[in-house]
Amino acid sequence: SDGQESTAQDEKIFVAVRLRPLNGKEIAKGDASDWECVNATTIIFKNNPSERSMYPNAYTFDRVYGCDSSTKELYEEGVKGIALSVLNGINSSIFAYGQTSSGKTYTMSGITEYAIEDIYDYISRQNDREFALKFSAIEIYNECVRDLLSQDGAQLRLLDDPEKGVVVEKLTEANLRDCNHLKELICVCEAERQIGETKLNEMSSRSHQILRLTVESSACEYNGSESGRSLAATVNFVDLAGSERASQTLAAGTRLKEGCHINRSLLTLGTVIRKLSKGGNSHVPYRNSKLTRILQNSLGGNARTAIVCTMSPAHSHVEQSRNTLLFASCAK
Ligand code: ADP
Ligand code: MG
Repeated sequence: SDGQESTAQDEKIFVAVRLRPLNGKEIAKGDASDWECVNATTIIFKNNPSERSMYPNAYTFDRVYGCDSSTKELYEEGVKGIALSVLNGINSSIFAYGQTSSGKTYTMSGITEYAIEDIYDYISRQNDREFALKFSAIEIYNECVRDLLSQDGAQLRLLDDPEKGVVVEKLTEANLRDCNHLKELICVCEAERQIGETKLNEMSSRSHQILRLTVESSACEYNGSESGRSLAATVNFVDLAGSERASQTLAAGTRLKEGCHINRSLLTLGTVIRKLSKGGNSHVPYRNSKLTRILQNSLGGNARTAIVCTMSPAHSHVEQSRNTLLFASCAK
């Protein structure tokens, strides 16, 4: 068969860690890099040994990427196969997790661009199947769900559909003409998110963004065979809120409603991911946050998941970087 029945639930979550380069400000401050990728899978803390004692020195993941890595290599090595499983009728989610300014958007926008080019390239070479692609874009801010393809800013409700699972009510589903149409719509979403940023003080660092592409296909002439049936699946590209919001709120108590909700979504995601990575039959609390409810059909079960955790190498960010590595360790 085409892989839809393959035991995807036995596949582990793909976890990668990426270091961005030191930026100009950090270099000007004399900030040094704490971390080094010593091979394809191991990242080590290379600083002052006296600071090492409480924490592990070395962490191993499916892949680690140093500051001279390209998004293309990161994409090709692990993420691509997961994103393109949408072509075989398998749902997937690809996350960028990390503190603000660690490179989530930089990494996820590159991944998204490569993936959609590969998806359209694949489709253009299929002569015996017809494809229909749809695109939606969701922002979750303060546990409020907003349509990034709609200008009205209305808050959307989540509904439980007996057949489709969780559905975002009234969410725009754009029928795509081609790859350029999709790229234009993604630009619209980026602009929409940036308006929010200046208006509402770094809104993008506090909100989760989900770009979702649905691929439906069927045989041009149905011949009753296995390969002739129709397939439908969704791939989600998820640029998460800055992870510092969760840990700051944890440290300071839950003073801010905003921080509390981000805390809830990120914490729930962490719990869901941990449960899924452990396997077994324990209860997975998808319903505890909007983020995990919306992604429920694309997490666990037959779905595939990749998490790219981005880190600043700077010593001034060491605490956040350790938190990010802890999250990544729990996911693998
Ligand atoms: P985040 O979305 O996590 O807040 P960004 O993706 O906006 O972070 O990255 C912050 C800055 O660092 C941006 O100017 C971005 O271009 C740059 N940057 C991030 N990752 C890399 C990288 N791997 N290589 C080069 N520049 C990067
Ligand atoms: Mg960002």
